[in-house]
Amino acid sequence: MEALRQRRAVVIGGGLGGLATAVRLAARGWRVEVFEQGPRLGGKMNTFEREGFRFDTGPSLITMPWVFEELFEAAGSSLSRHVRLTQVSPLADYVYADGTRFTYTTSLPEWLETVKQLEPRDREGFMKFMRLGARLFALSRETFLRRAPLEPPDLRSLGALRQFPLRHAWGSYHSTVAAHFRSPHLRQMFERYPTYVGSSPYRTPATFAVIPYIEYAYGGWHVEGGLYRIVESLIDLARDLGVSLHTSARVSAIEHEGRRARGVTLADGTKLQADVVVMNGDAALTDEMLGGGNGNGLRSQSERSLSGFVMLLGVKRKLEGLAHHTVYFAEDYRREFSQLFDERRFPEDPTVYVCAPSRTDPCVAPEGCETLFVMANAPSVESPWDERQTEEAKAGVFGRLSKGGFPDVARETVVSDVWTPGRFARDYVSPGGAIYGTHSHGWRRAFLRPPNRHARVGGLYHVGGSSHPGGGTPTVLLSAKITTELIERHER
Ligand SMILES: Cc1cc2nc3c(=O)[nH]c(=O)nc-3n(C[C@H](O)[C@H](O)[C@H](O)COP(=O)(O)OP(=O)(O)OC[C@H]3O[C@@H](n4cnc5c(N)ncnc54)[C@H](O)[C@@H]3O)c2cc1C
Repeated sequence: MEALRQRRAVVIGGGLGGLATAVRLAARGWRVEVFEQGPRLGGKMNTFEREGFRFDTGPSLITMPWVFEELFEAAGSSLSRHVRLTQVSPLADYVYADGTRFTYTTSLPEWLETVKQLEPRDREGFMKFMRLGARLFALSRETFLRRAPLEPPDLRSLGALRQFPLRHAWGSYHSTVAAHFRSPHLRQMFERYPTYVGSSPYRTPATFAVIPYIEYAYGGWHVEGGLYRIVESLIDLARDLGVSLHTSARVSAIEHEGRRARGVTLADGTKLQADVVVMNGDAALTDEMLGGGNGNGLRSQSERSLSGFVMLLGVKRKLEGLAHHTVYFAEDYRREFSQLFDERRFPEDPTVYVCAPSRTDPCVAPEGCETLFVMANAPSVESPWDERQTEEAKAGVFGRLSKGGFPDVARETVVSDVWTPGRFARDYVSPGGAIYGTHSHGWRRAFLRPPNRHARVGGLYHVGGSSHPGGGTPTVLLSAKITTELIERHER
């Protein structure tokens, strides 16, 4: 009798989504090979180390920690055996152009006291906004976050849909925030959340109220030693399960016979056969890799999510009073998004986010120093910025920080690394440098992202932030779970 042949999967890209799918498939008996074009695994969840400073170059905060736990459990391990998660508390400091500043804390009595100082009537607005987020979360975890779009609904999702606050699905996020808060400061603060998926608060549907709810209810988390420790643990887990991991190995084509994927060809000409191909690179590139044109329209700049301008700064000085997370808001938020999405330029007055993990985790910086991740939103681009654009962006960021009372650290900065949209595009093969694939403007883009199972080619799957259910680390892990379940169902 012929021995049962081990089914073989090839994963294109060793980002978080690719690694998580590899681990899940290997745990179910698949023989898996991952090909990552970059020199290191992790994709946008990456690291940079110099002179004792350890930077996360991408994510600086994780939410929904149980999703990470679930992945490790699915592979027969446990997250706590590999990494230590710490809850960042308070969540963040917010600094406004008019000099107002306050701390956003998950301690409800303290937070409601802060809200009272800003606008007493917004205490009720906040509670209502959170209740709306809770209902949306209860619904989405049974539907959008659990299943592929357009798959026939099961009883669980139909039950959840009955509870759906429909009126809130189609309204705009911005008007929903405005309906709950009177304080201009609280409005600006809650309007920030759609940027977690690279989108504008003025164009996303109200359902994104789920994001601030998840953060408030379940906390924002740091990983001791830096978030890249999660990637390192996944690499260990994958190796233990027998996954072959290749770096500096670019896949140039997805091979198919008619409507069935058969394997991949690497940039060096090597051909590999596989029963299943999983695309973790940007879904906008899949058609080209299948040998077709760029027919899916997902590469058009007007469809792309935000990119970023990031400075990683190693500072030889302690910055007492600085929180782990601080946001320095631009004066005119609407204008900032209009420049990002309509004029497609870096904002004159950018909102700046500073993450200083060394404030709560000393092991990411040498003694007496701070590790800083400084980020502003930037538009995705057709071509890389020139030096003048980069210098202007730096000046804009430091200008906003200085107005917000952030100390001048130029002379004490001993390590500096700058990421522009062009660098995001090049290093992660991400069209336009967009961090989250297409934006989530309008219900169609928000809910009908490229499907996990390719619509035309059998045996071909998508996983990661550019496909369903979207970007951000926990969502990408859910994408890996959905994709693995589809593969198990359809590729027997
Ligand atoms: C600056 C920044 C800040 C962020 N902040 C947060 C945050 O605070 N919290 C949060 O949850 N999320 C955050 N994110 C988002 C999060 O990092 C991403 O959503 C997630 O890491 C994406 O994972 P992925 O697997 O979908 O894609 P990627 O990480 O893009 O992985 C895809 C991989 O495929 C590779 N690849 C592409 N094409 C090919 C090819 N042809 N052959 C071989 N390999 C290929 C790429 O090199 C890449 O490594 C941030 C991202 C960035 C960049």
